[in-house]
Amino acid sequence: MKSMVIVGGGVAGLTAGIFAQKNGFSSIILEKNPIPGGECTGWDRRGFHIDGCIHWLMGTDEGSPLNELWKTVGALENTEIFHPESFLSFEHEAGTVHFYRDLERLQSSWTQLSPEDEAVISEFCGVIRQLHSFTIDAEKPVRMMSIREKIRYFSSMKDAGMVMKRYGKISLREYAQRFTHPALRAALSEFLPDGYRSTSVMFALSAFSKHAASMPMGGSRAFSLRMAERYRELGGTLKTSCEAVSLDISGSTVRKVSCSDGSIYEADYVVAACDVSHIINKLLGGRYRIPEFDKRFADPDTYPLASEILIALGYQGSMENYPRSISFAVDPFTVNGKDIERIKIAHFHHEPGYAPEGHGVMICDINQFSDDVDAWFALAKDKSAYRKEKQRIADAVRTAVETRLPELKGKITVLDTASPVTYQRYCNAYRGSFMGFWPTLKRKQMDHSGKIKGLKNFYISGQWLQPPGGLPTAVMTGKYTVMDICRKEKQRFIS
Ligand SMILES: Cc1cc2nc3c(=O)[nH]c(=O)nc-3n(C[C@H](O)[C@H](O)[C@H](O)COP(=O)(O)OP(=O)(O)OC[C@H]3O[C@@H](n4cnc5c(N)ncnc54)[C@H](O)[C@@H]3O)c2cc1C
Repeated sequence: MKSMVIVGGGVAGLTAGIFAQKNGFSSIILEKNPIPGGECTGWDRRGFHIDGCIHWLMGTDEGSPLNELWKTVGALENTEIFHPESFLSFEHEAGTVHFYRDLERLQSSWTQLSPEDEAVISEFCGVIRQLHSFTIDAEKPVRMMSIREKIRYFSSMKDAGMVMKRYGKISLREYAQRFTHPALRAALSEFLPDGYRSTSVMFALSAFSKHAASMPMGGSRAFSLRMAERYRELGGTLKTSCEAVSLDISGSTVRKVSCSDGSIYEADYVVAACDVSHIINKLLGGRYRIPEFDKRFADPDTYPLASEILIALGYQGSMENYPRSISFAVDPFTVNGKDIERIKIAHFHHEPGYAPEGHGVMICDINQFSDDVDAWFALAKDKSAYRKEKQRIADAVRTAVETRLPELKGKITVLDTASPVTYQRYCNAYRGSFMGFWPTLKRKQMDHSGKIKGLKNFYISGQWLQPPGGLPTAVMTGKYTVMDICRKEKQRFIS
C-alpha cells in the first residue's frame, strides 16, 4: 500500500485525504490547529458561536455534480440547507435594493423602484436566467478530459461563454452606470470591490437564484468536522496541533516532512494543501519556484489579494424581521486612515443554536486590501496598540448598528474581532488572504495542476490553484490531486 502525507487539514486537505483512503492509499493529515477546517471554521465566545466562513456555498443544488461531491466527502451529509430570501438588502437614501432569490420578485421590485430602468433591469435578469444553464463540473479537470469530454464540456458552457463575451470586459462599476437610479447604481457598483468584472455579480446571482449557492445548517465548523469524520471513517489518520516546518528533499523526491513537535513523517507522496506562498517560501525554502505564482505575487495591482476585518456582535433580541444581510450607510469612522461610510452586517436568526435563548449573533466584515494589510501587520508588532485598535473599530461598528437598529441599543456585546493578522496566524494565509487572486478585469485566468518542476512526488492542492478560490476550488482540487496521483500510479480513480 502506497502512503501519502497531507500537510493541512482544510477543505482541500480533508478532501485529498478522503480520496486517498478511497483509492487505497494509507494517509495521514497534519494540521497545525487543534481542529481541522482551516479557513472554513467557526469558534465560540461567551456562549455565542461565530461562523467565520460560509456566506454562500456553491453546490447546494440537489443533484448537481458539485452537490454530489460535497456529499461524497461528507460535508453535506444529512444536512439541511438554508436558502435566504435575499442575498443582500442594500439601503440607500433613494430606496432599498433587494437582491432577492426569486428573480421575478427582484425584477419587479427593482422596476417599481426605478421604472425608467425597466429595459436594463430586464436585460440584467435575462442574463442571470441565461446563466442558469451553467453548472460547475466537479468530475475531472479539463486537463484530464478526452477530446470528446472537452467538446461536451465546452458546449455545456455555451451560455456562460456568450455572457462572458458580452460582459466579461466590462467592470462592475462601469456596468452599474447603465442604471439611472442612484440606489441601483450604488447597490451594483458596491456589491463587490472596485476592479471586479460585471460578470462576477451575474454568476453569483444566477447561482443564488437557482438555489445553488446557499448555506448549510450548522455552519462552517460543523461542515468541516463532518468531512474530518468521513476521513476517519475511511481509516485516515488526522493529526492536529502538528505544524509541518520543513521538507527533506533528495534529488527530485520529497522524503520526509518534519513537524514543530519533533515528529517526522515519510511517505511515497506528499501533498501540501495549504497556502501557496507558505509552501513555496517556507516549506520548500524558496528553492523551487513556480513562475505562474511568482509573477502574480510580484504584481499586486493586477493580481490583488484581499483579507478582512471580521467583527462579531452578540445581541439580546431578535432580528427575525430583518433580511439576513443588510448594507447601510453609517456616520463615517476610520480604518487605517480611510473613511468607512457604509457597513454590511449578516445575522444568523436561522441558527438558534448559535446564541443563548433570546439572543442572536451577527457579523460585520470589512474588506482590507494591500496598504490596509501592511498597516495591520505593522500595528500587530505592538500587541496592546493592536488590541486597542481592534476594540475601537468594533465599538464603532457596534455604535453604527445601534444607530440603524435602535431597538438593540445597549443590548449589543462585542464578541470578537479578527484582522488580516488573525488569518495569517491561524492558517498561515499569506497576508491574511481569504481567497486567491481576485477576478479583476486585468488578470489572466490560471488553472494550475499543483505540480512543481523538479519534484516528482510532491503536489500542491487547494484554493490557490484556481483563483479566486473559495470552497468549490478547495474541494475540487483536493480530489483532482488524488486523481493525478492515481494516474501516476496507473490505477483507476475511484470517486
Ligand atoms: C471570512 C471568510 C469568509 C469566507 N466565505 C466563503 C464563502 O462564503 N464561500 C466560499 O466558497 N468560500 C469562502 N471563504 C473561502 C474559503 O474558506 C476558502 O477558500 C477555503 O476554506 C480554502 O480551503 P483550503 O483547504 O484551500 O485552504 P485553508 O482553509 O487555508 O486550509 C489550509 C490548512 O492548512 C493548515 N496549515 C497551514 N500551514 C500548515 C503547516 N505548515 N502544517 C500543517 N498545517 C498547516 C491550516 O491551518 C489550514 O487548516 C471564506 C473565507 C474566509 C476567511
